Amino acid sequence: MALETPNHTQTVAGWAAYDSSGKIAPYIFKRRENGVNDVTIQVMYCGICHTDLHHVKDDWGITMYPVVPGHEITGVITKVGSNVKNFKLGDRVGVGCLAASCLECEFCKNSQENYCDQIQFTYNGIFWDGTITYGGYSEMLVADHRYVVHVPDNLPMDAAAPLLCAGITVFSPMKDCQLLESPGKKVGIVGLGGLGHVAVKMAKAFGHQVTVISTSPSKENEAKQRLGADYFLVSTDAKQMQRGKRTLDVILDTVSAKHSLGPILELLKVNGTLVVVGAPDRPIELPSFPLIFGKRAVKGSMTGGMKETQEMMDVCGKHNITCDVELIKPDKINQALDRLARNDVRYRFVIDIAGTSKL
Ligand code: NAP
Ligand code: ZN
Repeated sequence: MALETPNHTQTVAGWAAYDSSGKIAPYIFKRRENGVNDVTIQVMYCGICHTDLHHVKDDWGITMYPVVPGHEITGVITKVGSNVKNFKLGDRVGVGCLAASCLECEFCKNSQENYCDQIQFTYNGIFWDGTITYGGYSEMLVADHRYVVHVPDNLPMDAAAPLLCAGITVFSPMKDCQLLESPGKKVGIVGLGGLGHVAVKMAKAFGHQVTVISTSPSKENEAKQRLGADYFLVSTDAKQMQRGKRTLDVILDTVSAKHSLGPILELLKVNGTLVVVGAPDRPIELPSFPLIFGKRAVKGSMTGGMKETQEMMDVCGKHNITCDVELIKPDKINQALDRLARNDVRYRFVIDIAGTSKL
């Protein structure tokens, strides 16, 4: 596996973790020249997803160091390849988790590139030229235009950045569960973090009654008053969980740590669906009794396809859905990762890569 190839001529300043201590430090590296299908993006903002934390600490045992994390990227186009027709210089764009896919399989042909079995991710992936991909904790990115979306004019670039991963990761299963077109459902969101808080906003915008299931009683007021949740259950309080039994149609579980799905499944009505999007490093517990007694289904979902990602951006533009962010300078990435690990963020850190915000 080559770290660089001859056409990797562009020097870029970024931030990387060098080992599983997870500490981030400046890193200078090379990116490929802008190819015919590529656009070059001056990165403005990059969200800090919990997946970045899993990677820098090698939670999943797959990290190739040095790793430049970041897949919640917004920026401005500075170069356009000759095959690219749908983007021009100066466009406000976003890049999420996907860097490449085979373009030929049934999933790619159907714009479900996220389920292509040759998918390459924005960072810690191996690109077609054999190089390791580096993400958005960097000043500039070269991206194949097929994995780039437009950011609607009314969305601020900082608060829109987390939509590129957190947003699409919860939008896709909501769409899959027909929550976009049939309002009035009872929807549960487990874990009020980066993914969870945007899921609450979307589910409310789509006309559903929303219950947050959380380990943090301190989040109740914000969940209801700022994010618009209707109900809040503290998952460690057995009485509250008992009261919520058989009340929900669909639940999205965004929890980043090992936990049991049993008490969560009990909250579903008969025939209800639990979609797991959280990716703990150890297996989650799935007891069979709450599954079989309620004829319930558990499924997974991973990010979204590109067509769906553009649709999600446009829907967020229409409903004015943005993320609640804490903006930081790049020299505060380590503190932000530490706070994210302690569940101390409301609700997403976003790095001001270009230094254009007043901080
Ligand atoms: P986050 O901001 O850290 O939010 C996770 C939330 O989970 C926390 O805010 C907390 O909410 C809850 N939580 C944390 N530890 C817990 C524990 N021990 N038991 C129960 N609940 C706990 O993380 P995120 O960025 O939203 O990401 C969440 C997970 O989704 C991560 O594992 C990430 O890798 C994964 N992810 C998956 C995809 C995908 O495509 N499927 C995409 C992006 C991220 P409360 O305080 O409310 O309990
Ligand atoms: Zn992510």
